[in-house]
Amino acid sequence: MTTKRNYAIAIDGPAGSGKSTMARRVAKDLGFVYVDTGAIYRTVGYHMDFYGIGPKDTDGITRLIGDVNIVIEYDADGLQHMILNGRDVTEEIRTPEMSKIASVISAQKVVRDYLLDMQRQLARTHNVVMDGRDIGTVVLPGADVKIFLTADPEVRARRRFDELTAKGEKVQYEKVLQDLIARDEQDKNRKIAPLRPAKDAVHLDTTDLDIEQAAAAMESIIKEKLGQR
Ligand code: C5P
Repeated sequence: MTTKRNYAIAIDGPAGSGKSTMARRVAKDLGFVYVDTGAIYRTVGYHMDFYGIGPKDTDGITRLIGDVNIVIEYDADGLQHMILNGRDVTEEIRTPEMSKIASVISAQKVVRDYLLDMQRQLARTHNVVMDGRDIGTVVLPGADVKIFLTADPEVRARRRFDELTAKGEKVQYEKVLQDLIARDEQDKNRKIAPLRPAKDAVHLDTTDLDIEQAAAAMESIIKEKLGQR
């Protein structure tokens, strides 16, 4: 490896493909900073919702976006905390309702423009493992490693269902699956920064892999790519 700017690993893929779990783990192993960009969109959605602004209300969002001050902090376990105007909203943004709001609001140009600099700035100042939908294509097109994670919708919905149930939320599997498919469609078909693999991304299908196997596969891709630098 040659010395150069910071390293960036971009991990994209649809909801429930295992991005967060694996990106966080890989970041810990490498000593890189993990950045969950979905949480940033969720935080913007939360702010707007709090002030009664719907995710499709471009004028309302444009009016309020300048008030959104987001700080990212990490606890001892490496968990990313979202501090919105001084308040920790990490828990509040993790509901099915906030997933939907985030998906709709993230199609707004004013939101994406506002968050782009913030994400790039993090990558300029740290070695990062960043996960999202457009990291390899838009946010960090020059990333050292790009991985596009996929898995069958039923498997992804099952993972999301287990996650929510473990938190004590009462949800139905069928509803989780429907919401996930709707969100996939929205994320793939929006005009700006749609969910799609970068041309140079390595694809990894985690349908038949457990976390250990998927993390091992991901680490071997990363080692190989970084080794080539
Ligand atoms: O990853 P997560 O499910 O938390 O993301 C919530 C929503 O935020 C996604 O459905 C997507 O619409 C949006 N998002 C995005 N670009 C990213 C990360 C997330 O548009 N880089």
